[in-house]
Amino acid sequence: MAATLDATATIAPVARSTPRPCSNGLVALTFDDGPSRTVTPRLLDVLREKRVPATFFVVGQRVAAEPGIVRRAHRAGFLLANHTFAHERLTSLSAAGIRRTLRRTRAAVVAAGAEMSRLMRPPYGLIDSRVRGVVSDLGLVPVLWTVDPRDWAGAGAEVIADRVISALRPDQQNVVLLHDGVANSPRTLSAVPDIIRRARARGYCFAGLGAGGRPAPPVPGLRVHGATVVEKTGEQARLRFAVSLDRPTSRLTSVRIRTADRSARAGSDYAAVARRLWFPVGVTRKVVEVRVFGDHLDEWTERLTLDADRPRGVALLDASSTGQITDDDRPPKVSVEDVALPEPAAVDSAWVQVPVVLSRPSGRQVSVTVATVDGTATTDDFVPVEATVVIPAGEVEGAAAVEVLADDEVEASEQFTVVIQQATRATITDGTATVSIDPPLALRLRLRLP
Ligand code: ZN
Repeated sequence: MAATLDATATIAPVARSTPRPCSNGLVALTFDDGPSRTVTPRLLDVLREKRVPATFFVVGQRVAAEPGIVRRAHRAGFLLANHTFAHERLTSLSAAGIRRTLRRTRAAVVAAGAEMSRLMRPPYGLIDSRVRGVVSDLGLVPVLWTVDPRDWAGAGAEVIADRVISALRPDQQNVVLLHDGVANSPRTLSAVPDIIRRARARGYCFAGLGAGGRPAPPVPGLRVHGATVVEKTGEQARLRFAVSLDRPTSRLTSVRIRTADRSARAGSDYAAVARRLWFPVGVTRKVVEVRVFGDHLDEWTERLTLDADRPRGVALLDASSTGQITDDDRPPKVSVEDVALPEPAAVDSAWVQVPVVLSRPSGRQVSVTVATVDGTATTDDFVPVEATVVIPAGEVEGAAAVEVLADDEVEASEQFTVVIQQATRATITDGTATVSIDPPLALRLRLRLP
């Protein structure tokens, strides 16, 4: 019983942290001796689906036989490199023979409608200083490998994958030699998805070969995403812009980020941001916070942008995005106020200004439609009016002007009203104002009116 318990204890799952993507370094897959009509197209599909770069060291005579596959590989972004025309041992060839086989291979790739890189790999890895001299005189860079699972020698897919995974070294430039153009290549093809999955789980990421023939870190695409925040009165809200990479990479990368005004203004609406944003190895998402200042104004939605430039190790896919600050402040209240005036002297007329007042300033323009309504004063006493009063953003008062006419009759005080009919971007509280037309002072004294 004790033994069983012990066994159970040993196989109990152990919490293991998964390494960050790319944190263990790079793996470059290379495929030699193709193209093959049966294996290469399926391999291209697998690599594209899993977004794994690879380099194909092609044999010229096979390129001439399958130009379409080579063209397809090129168009899909894979690197093509030179593996001689007929898989010759270069150490056995004359300088002229070496030049001829490499040039013919290049010509076959170009004739297929593809581009040939400057990289070459000598068949069987056979190279000496003489061959090296001829190769470099042609402007070519020889590339060997660090991992050789001997996938051509009849091993099954599982064995091939095991050999590759166990030979990978952290923080080393791992160049894996595989074959897509030999008899055992269908097994290599079957091993590739497993190699990709297991290598990634161990914190490696896949790389193409750079001009010097060494694995080059992937260049992720960067996107700035939009953000929205509700401005809260008296509080500092934050706009949170996500900045993402479309894949991890093996080196520290960065981009400069800056806010830019649109309708929102740096300093009054938000705190400007201008700095470099760093992505540590394997990190694909960062958040940039922009502080937003709350106010008491009823406002339109305000906008700013977050812009990225000066990329290091990343490509800009979407370099600018909009941030929206929406408003939580209610519209102000609007009212009209009572007013009194002495009746104008005979023949004259006078204008009365009826105040239209906001409870507080608004960030937006307020319009108020008002109209006169007869009271004891009628259209003999004033000119009826329907008017729109506009109160600009930031101000608290406007006025409706009404023309008051002189009257021959001896009268007591008369009234009419001014009524708010409609208000835009304000709430009506007191919508009725009384306008009192008092008799002229001399008349008031004579009649002993108050
Ligand atoms: Zn070969």
